[in-house]
Amino acid sequence: MKSALRLLAVTVTISGLTLLAYSLATQFDRIDWTSPVFWVFAACVLVGELMPIKIPRQKEVIWVTVSGMFAFSLILTFGTAGALAALIPASIADDFLSKKPLWRWGFNAGVYTLAASAAGGLLYTFSELPRRSDPTHFAGSDLVVILFGGLVFFAVNWCLAGMAVAFLRDAPVFTTLRSNLGLDMVTDGILLTLSPLVVAAADRSLYLIPLLALPMLAAYQAARVAQRNLGLVNDLQEQADENRHLALHDPLTDLPNRSLFHDRVGNAISFAGRNRQGLSVVLMDLDRFKEINDALGHHNGDSLLKEVSRRLVTVVRESDTVARLGGDEFAVLIPAIAHPGDVNRVVEGLLRAFERPFELEELVLKVEASMGLAIYPQHGLDSGTLIRHADVAMYASKQSQAGYEVYQSTRDEHTRDRLALVEGLRKAVANGEFALHYQPKVDVATGRLVGVEALLRWCHNGNFVPPSLFIPLAEHTGLIGLITLWVIETVASQSRTWQKSGVALNIAVNLSMRNLFDRQLPRQIAEAMAQRGMAPERLELEITESGIAADPIRAEAELADLSAMGITLSIDDFGTGHSSLSRLKRLPVDELKIDQSFVTNMVQDKSNAAIVRSIIELGHNLNLRVVGEGVETLGALEQLRAFGCDIVQGYYLGHPLPAAEFLAWREGYSWEAKILDRDQSFAPLRSLAGPEVA
Ligand code: C2E
Ligand code: MG
Ligand code: MG
Repeated sequence: MKSALRLLAVTVTISGLTLLAYSLATQFDRIDWTSPVFWVFAACVLVGELMPIKIPRQKEVIWVTVSGMFAFSLILTFGTAGALAALIPASIADDFLSKKPLWRWGFNAGVYTLAASAAGGLLYTFSELPRRSDPTHFAGSDLVVILFGGLVFFAVNWCLAGMAVAFLRDAPVFTTLRSNLGLDMVTDGILLTLSPLVVAAADRSLYLIPLLALPMLAAYQAARVAQRNLGLVNDLQEQADENRHLALHDPLTDLPNRSLFHDRVGNAISFAGRNRQGLSVVLMDLDRFKEINDALGHHNGDSLLKEVSRRLVTVVRESDTVARLGGDEFAVLIPAIAHPGDVNRVVEGLLRAFERPFELEELVLKVEASMGLAIYPQHGLDSGTLIRHADVAMYASKQSQAGYEVYQSTRDEHTRDRLALVEGLRKAVANGEFALHYQPKVDVATGRLVGVEALLRWCHNGNFVPPSLFIPLAEHTGLIGLITLWVIETVASQSRTWQKSGVALNIAVNLSMRNLFDRQLPRQIAEAMAQRGMAPERLELEITESGIAADPIRAEAELADLSAMGITLSIDDFGTGHSSLSRLKRLPVDELKIDQSFVTNMVQDKSNAAIVRSIIELGHNLNLRVVGEGVETLGALEQLRAFGCDIVQGYYLGHPLPAAEFLAWREGYSWEAKILDRDQSFAPLRSLAGPEVA
C-alpha cells in the first residue's frame, strides 16, 4: 500500500476507534434499546449499506446510499452513540460481505465515526436536540443547526473517502475531490435534509416509515432510469470514440494511420515553429515484404507487420509518433529536436529494431528496411512537403542500399532557376506544356513498322527542356507519378484514335523505377486503358536495367503484376545496369533494348560490336526479343541484322515526331529506300514491305 494511504488509513482508524469508545462510554445510556424507532432506523441503515444504488459515471461508478439519512436521523433522536451503534455494524457487515481487505473495514468504520461525531458534536454544541426529551419539536434555529450538521456529516465523509481514492490512484487530491463534488452534494444533501422529516414521521407513527419508502422507491427508480440512460449515453459515447479511433488508426497494428500522421506532423510543425525548434519525419519501407507476403501468405505478412510495429514503438520515445501509412510503409515523427544528435539517436534505434531476425511461425527471417529522413525547417515548412521529401530520401536509400538517407536538396536545387523549374514542372500537366513524340520501331527481318516508343517532350516558357534534365527532377520531387499517368492516358487516347483510322501500333511507354514504388500504378494503368478503349496487348512498358537493379525484388513483384495484365515489358538501356543474369532469367519481361551507347558507334568500335552481339545472343537464349536502339547509320543497321537483332529503332529509321507528323512520315516510309544505298555486303532482304502494320 502507498505510504500516504497507509498513514491516512491508520490515522482514521485509530481516531475513529478512540471516538467510538468515547461516544459509547459517555452516551451509551441515551440509547433506548427498547424503542422500536431505534430498531427500524438501524434496520434501514443496514439495508442502505448493503444495497446502495450504483450510478455509472464516465469510467467510474458512484454509490448512493440512504444509510447516511437514517444514521443522521439516529443522531437527531438518540445522539452520536445511537447512530454509531447502528452504523458501525452495518458498515462492517457490508465490508465483510463484499470481501474488502481488513484495513478498509477499519477505515470505513473510522470515517463514519468521525463524520457522525463531528455532526453530533455540532448539534450538541449549538442546539439542545439530541438531549431533548422530544426531539421532534424542531425550533426554527434548530433547522439551521441541522442543516450545518448535515453539511459536516457529508463533508467529513466526502473529504476522507476522496483523499483515500486520490492516494490509491496516485491522482491529485484536490482534483479528485472536486470531480465528484457536484453529484455527491445533490444526492447526499437531499437525503440528509430529509432526516428531520423521517424523525417527525417516525414519532407520529412507525407505520409512516414504510410510506416514506414510496418516494424513496421513486427516487431509486429515477436513479435507475438515469443510470440506464447514462449507460446508454456512455455506450454511444464509447461507440463514437471507437469510430473516431478506427478512422484515424490502422486496424492491423492500431498505429496512427496516414491521415492522423499528417495531422500530427502539422501540429508538431506549428509547435516547433513557435518554439524555434526542429523536428524530423522518417519514412521507411520493408525491403522484401511483398516477397514474404506472397511466399508465406498474408497471415505471416500480417504478423511481420505487427511485430515490426511493436518493435518500432519500443525503440522510440513516448513523445514520438510511429504510424503505418499503408502496406509495408511506416513513418516516425520525432517532434522538438533540440540537437542534431537527437535524430541520429532515433535513426540508430530504428535500425536496431531490425537487427534481430523476425520469428514467423516456424520460420526465422532477417528483414531490413530502407529509411528516408526529412528535417524541419531545412527540408520543408509544411507536413506535405516534409513527408514527400522523406519519401524521396527513402527512395534514395533503396537505391544506395545504405539503410537510411537524409533528404538532400542538392546545392543547385536552391538556385532560383532550379526552383523555378520545379515549380514549372508542378504546373506543366495543368498548363498543357507536355507533348508526346513517337519514334518508330521496325522489324529487321521484314522491314515492317511494328510499334512506336512514346517519348515525353516539355516545352516550358517557349524552351525545350530535355527529358534527361526534367525526368530526374520529377523523380526527385515525386511528381513522376502524376506525369507518368498523363503519359499513359495520352498514349491510350492516341492508340484509340489510331485504331479508329486503321493504324494498329504497339506503343511503348517509359516507366521510372519510382513508378514501381507506387502501388496504385497497375490499377491506374488498367483504368486509363479501359476508359479509353486501349487493349493491354497494345501497351509496352520500358523500365531501365539500372532501375530494376536498384530494388530487384520489388521490381520483380511489380513487373509480375503488370505482366499479368497482358502488358508487354521491356528492359531499357540494357548493358549498363549490372543486373544479375539469374535474376534476369526470372523477370517476367519480353524484350531487351540494347543501350544505344553500344549501338551508335558499333561499326567503328569492335568491342561495342562484340557486346551487342553477346547481348543479342543472351536475349535469344532467354527467349527475349532484342531491340537495337540508337541506330544512326545504315552500317549499324546492317550489323544488327547480321547479328540477328529483331527490332531496330534510331534516327536512321525515323526521329521521334508528334503524332500528326509521325503519320505523315509513316505514309512516306519505305524500307526499300532505307536500304537502297546499302553496302554490297548487306545480304538481300526478302521482304520490301511498306508501312504495313503488325
Ligand atoms: P530511352 O527510353 O532510352 O529513349 C531513347 C532516347 O534516345 C530518346 O531520347 C530518343 O530521342 C533518343 N534516340 C532515339 N534514336 C536515337 C539515335 O539514333 N541516336 C541518338 N543519339 N539518340 C536517339 P530522349 O527522348 O531525349 O529521352 C531520353 C530518356 O528520357 C529516355 O531514354 C527515357 O529514359 C527518358 N524518357 C523519355 N520519355 C520518358 C517518359 O515519358 N517517362 C520516363 N520515365 N522517362 C522518359
Ligand atoms: Mg525507352
Ligand atoms: Mg533506351
